[in-house]
Amino acid sequence: MKQNNGQTPNNENLRVVIRVRPPMAREIRDGKFISTVQVAPDNLQLCIFDYHAIELVPDEDLEQYVSNPSNYTLHQFTFDYVYDQDSTQEQVYNTTAALSVDSTLQGYNSTIIAYGQTGTGKTYTMHGFSFNPNSDQLGIIPRSLHNIFNHIQMKSNSSTTFMVRASYLQIYNENISDLLRDSASLNIREDKKRGVFVENLSEWAVRGPAEIYQLMRKGNAKRVTASTRMNDTSSRSHAVFIITVEQIEEKAEGKSAKVGKLNLVDLAGSERVRVTGATGQRLEESKKINQSLSALGNVIAALTENRGTKPHIPYRDSKITRLLEDSLGGNCKTTFMAMISPAIDAFGESLSTLKFANRAKTIKNTPIVNQDGDQGALLRKYQLEIQKLKSELEERTKQPLENLVNELEKEKQKALEDKQEAQSAYEQRSKDLFKETELRKQLEEKISALNSQMLVGGQKIEETPQFQSALEKQQRLIRQQYQEKLTELEKERQSIEEDKAQTDKYKQLLLKQRDIMIALTNRLNDRDETILQLQEELDVYEKLQKENEDQLHSKQIRLEQFEELLLENKVEIPLVLQNQKQFNKEKVVDIQNDLQIQKLESIPVQTLHTNQQVQSDALISYELKNQIEINKQIQFDLKLTRTELDKYKNELDQLKKKQNTEQNTLIENARKSVDRILEQLTSQQSEQSLGNVAKELNQLQKMLKQGQQPARGHMKGQYSFSKSTSDSPNKIILINKQNDQMAKSTGQLVKLMQMKPQPKQNQSPVQSSKLKQKQKSVEDLWSQI
Ligand code: ADP
Ligand code: MG
Repeated sequence: MKQNNGQTPNNENLRVVIRVRPPMAREIRDGKFISTVQVAPDNLQLCIFDYHAIELVPDEDLEQYVSNPSNYTLHQFTFDYVYDQDSTQEQVYNTTAALSVDSTLQGYNSTIIAYGQTGTGKTYTMHGFSFNPNSDQLGIIPRSLHNIFNHIQMKSNSSTTFMVRASYLQIYNENISDLLRDSASLNIREDKKRGVFVENLSEWAVRGPAEIYQLMRKGNAKRVTASTRMNDTSSRSHAVFIITVEQIEEKAEGKSAKVGKLNLVDLAGSERVRVTGATGQRLEESKKINQSLSALGNVIAALTENRGTKPHIPYRDSKITRLLEDSLGGNCKTTFMAMISPAIDAFGESLSTLKFANRAKTIKNTPIVNQDGDQGALLRKYQLEIQKLKSELEERTKQPLENLVNELEKEKQKALEDKQEAQSAYEQRSKDLFKETELRKQLEEKISALNSQMLVGGQKIEETPQFQSALEKQQRLIRQQYQEKLTELEKERQSIEEDKAQTDKYKQLLLKQRDIMIALTNRLNDRDETILQLQEELDVYEKLQKENEDQLHSKQIRLEQFEELLLENKVEIPLVLQNQKQFNKEKVVDIQNDLQIQKLESIPVQTLHTNQQVQSDALISYELKNQIEINKQIQFDLKLTRTELDKYKNELDQLKKKQNTEQNTLIENARKSVDRILEQLTSQQSEQSLGNVAKELNQLQKMLKQGQQPARGHMKGQYSFSKSTSDSPNKIILINKQNDQMAKSTGQLVKLMQMKPQPKQNQSPVQSSKLKQKQKSVEDLWSQI
């Protein structure tokens, strides 16, 4: 067995306690756990078993192996307190942390440092992973604050005033950051009044337990965020919760102030971080953790070496040692809490932690109460401020309200006047400024005008600023004009393009119209052909109609014969037959008749046999029915033919009317011609005039022949209706006859006229009587016309 020290722990300024955490589920095999640590019942001593080559022992032999003393070496330690695995948070607080809190309340600087391998319970001991004030899991931080508030409450009737503030920081990769406020990396400063402190670290006044949890939540959330981002940062960073308690006590001899500070430090895992294989951020992080923990070890080593001379303490080698300068060998009451795991796997780390803790025991701290002088500065400042405000308020309450109102009114008036004054001053300044600007502008223009007229010595004219600026101006102008021209051209191009598009559109439209015209012309041609075909069909229909009429007639005769036959057989003439007869007589095709025939058809056949007639009756009846069918068909055909005929007759009438007007014009012309002949015959008896008459008559004859031919030709070529269809053709024929007669008479007359005339003077009475005769015959002719 090795006895590591024989000292009894009695240094109340620096206490070292050990806490052994309970085994974790993963460390228990088959419900059995082999612990390397044994805590003495007095809670002051602890043994740690160094089992030799235990890793080579099979699981089943372990129990026997560990019970044999020859298989292990025992290390024994004595501390201020040793908590075994069954210790509670409350016990830890009451027997260790509460002492630090008390010191703080007395005005000392106190520090509790949790040291140990990762996963040994440092954070659990400091925080406790609970925000419930009644939870037994609460760690040292919340319990300390509860304790402080209880203390304050107990003193509420006394003349002591308290002020409690909290700060929370983190050191990660040698950077200090505020866990209660977003901030950049913070720096450590030191001054005579405050000692070592973190510059710009936020301090939060805490007035009750609720605010403690608020701050813890806030800080832990920030630490957790960092953890998720930086992978288990929480065990790779140092976290320090600082509680400052300021108090001023009023005593008969005067006021006394005290300031106590409680630093609750949760260090990064003390295990040696393996640097091998780590790169980048991990490597840097590992280096920094090792660096800061070694610095801590070095500081403790330097503090505990007993050389007689004042040694150099390397506080400045790391942020954490610098920050804890007062706590390590300075003005502070410090408690080291070393956490260890009882598991065999953790033996090496546990032993080194215990050795470290054991060494720390010899650190000598010299704490003093931070009292009077500048202590409690903030609280004092606040108190003075409150005092000042109170007296001011008192002063004001002494004055009557009216005075205050008047004063206010005066102040208001003054403020208004000030405002007006300021405004007018501002306006004046604005005016001045404007004038000044104008003046400067004018001067500048003048200078440039003068400059432009001067040649600058030692310089080429084109290098002078005046020339350059003029050139630039000109270039700007040209560029602008060029740009404008370009825009114009672009506009023109666009409009041409639009016109082109429009023209194309019209062209397409015209082409379409042309196609439509062609199609229409084709259709007209088709129509012409159809008309010609219809004309031919009309001829056929006419023929058909004639035949139908003949057929109808023969049917009529047949019916009459049937009637006679019925009479002979003394059969009553059926109503059907009577009606049919009547119908045939009228030869009228209309809807009424059609309806009647339908009615007849609906008469039952039996009605025709009422008289129980012989077979011939049935035959007759059958014949009759057939006949009715045929008649119906004929009537339908007739109806169709009539409609067609009516159509063509209308067209014919129009043509006739046209022809009549032409004939009338012809007759009128002929009449005029005859008038002229008569006039010549009566007025001039010369050979010349007779020749003229003969010519005139010849023309008349030709005219009459021409007038007849086209009309007749047209009639013959186009239509050939019988006289009975209309009375207009009769008229035409009559006129044609008259024309023929006139032509004949005119022919005689021409012959007469063509006889060689005698000279005037040799005219004999016979000749004059002949002339009279001619005249008479012409007059007769005229009267015939
Ligand atoms: P560290 O901060 O030292 O890395 P933690 O405080 O995070 O370790 O503890 C690691 C785990 O062990 C946590 O789950 C914690 O609840 C548990 N633990 C530590 N100490 C104790 C204890 N004394 N009693 C019960 N559980 C504990
Ligand atoms: Mg932790």
